Amino acid sequence: MTIRTRFAPSPTGYLHVGGARTALFSWLYARKHGGAFVLRIEDTDLERSTAESVNAILEGMTWLGMEYDEGPFYQTKRFDRYNEVIDELLEKGLAYRCNCSKERLDDLREEAMQNKQKPRYDGHCRDLDIDPSQPHVVRFRNPQEGSVVFEDLVRGRIEIANDELDDLIIRRTDGSPTYNLSVVVDDSDMGITHVIRGDDHINNTPRQINILTAMDKEVPQFGHLPMILGDDGARLSKRHGAVSVMQYMEDGFLPEALLNYLVRLGWSYGDQEVFSVDEMIQLFDIDTVNKAASSFNTEKLLWLNQHYIKESDPAHIAHLLSPHMGRLDIDPTEGPDLVEVVKAQQERAQTLVEMAEISAFFYRDYDEFDENAAKKNLRPVAREPLEEMKLALASVEEWTPEALHQLVQDVSNQLELKMGKVAQPLRVAVVGRAASPSIDITLYLVGREACLRRIDKALEYISKREQSA
Ligand code: GLU
Repeated sequence: MTIRTRFAPSPTGYLHVGGARTALFSWLYARKHGGAFVLRIEDTDLERSTAESVNAILEGMTWLGMEYDEGPFYQTKRFDRYNEVIDELLEKGLAYRCNCSKERLDDLREEAMQNKQKPRYDGHCRDLDIDPSQPHVVRFRNPQEGSVVFEDLVRGRIEIANDELDDLIIRRTDGSPTYNLSVVVDDSDMGITHVIRGDDHINNTPRQINILTAMDKEVPQFGHLPMILGDDGARLSKRHGAVSVMQYMEDGFLPEALLNYLVRLGWSYGDQEVFSVDEMIQLFDIDTVNKAASSFNTEKLLWLNQHYIKESDPAHIAHLLSPHMGRLDIDPTEGPDLVEVVKAQQERAQTLVEMAEISAFFYRDYDEFDENAAKKNLRPVAREPLEEMKLALASVEEWTPEALHQLVQDVSNQLELKMGKVAQPLRVAVVGRAASPSIDITLYLVGREACLRRIDKALEYISKREQSA
């Protein structure tokens, strides 16, 4: 049997972390077993579904590298098919028309609440002959006896008595099919063998199994993934900060770091934390997913992000860093090679946003000195080392890190100063703040002209300081 999984988001917002984790597990399962991964857009809620949201979902999937083999299929394009199935069920007596008034249904609900029972439809119209030309809904004739049993791939055996399930509406008064009906028709038509989804759908599963059975269709296997909680123990939501996948891109996360983080939400392999995509495919399996909810931990995500920034090929990081430079209004072709900048900064940033910020000085003069750094390092005693360095930098022939290193060394020797007493004022002069890669690499990448210009700026700062003292 070829395994076929699907991701079936409702396009009513962006692709969020929970959805991405569901997609990832379905995708991994298909990839592992040589199966196919189908993308289905469940856009039947016309009021809440938007084209922007569809785009955001597709964008998020692409960014994370979860390519789908089939789709995207849109449920709104399949209404005829759903209605065909509903009519078939009606014909076979497996569904029936119901025209119970809203008042009657409200009364039923009220009564159930008073008796502390679960509100459920009482089957009033089951055996009535409702005029199809009058307003009505269509209900599925749920079996009244026995129970639905399934072996959940994550949670194990689940059994629900049929008398707990009422006759759910499968077609609304306006003629539109409902969620449970369309999902079942799609999963069946699309040959889905494994439905991997969030456990917020677990109550729908027995109903869906009953409909599939009534349709005489194969019932897929189900795996319901545990919830993701925020650090306060409540279900992860917007108020826990960025939960949109694309927000993580904006915030300077690498897709591989987020994927690695997501795979560990509810799944583990010994105490291994770092997984390449290939390793995920090799090691993941649905029956090793945890039953318990997992908590989202931003610190850990940051740690992974830093790990991938450090360990990845600099050219790859440069490629991802480029748009973040653009956001600072920097065109990385107008300055040092971005790959060289990445090599210099790889150990120094947790996110690409941070890396862009600490690398801007390679491409343009800083506006102001960092106050503390200037106060501490650009003092009158720094005048002489800076002047000497300026002379030396202006005339050095070879502009290489080695030669520049030697230059700083020579000036320090000449002035009988420790190297730090020369290098640190020089760094603040060239960078505008106290931290940067090693001084030789910093000078080398900033370039001669900018170095000289910025040293002048530092000397001016020192003069002003002397005057006002
Ligand atoms: N469209 C549903 C949702 O976004 C998922 C349905 C399913 O996976 O069966 O919650």
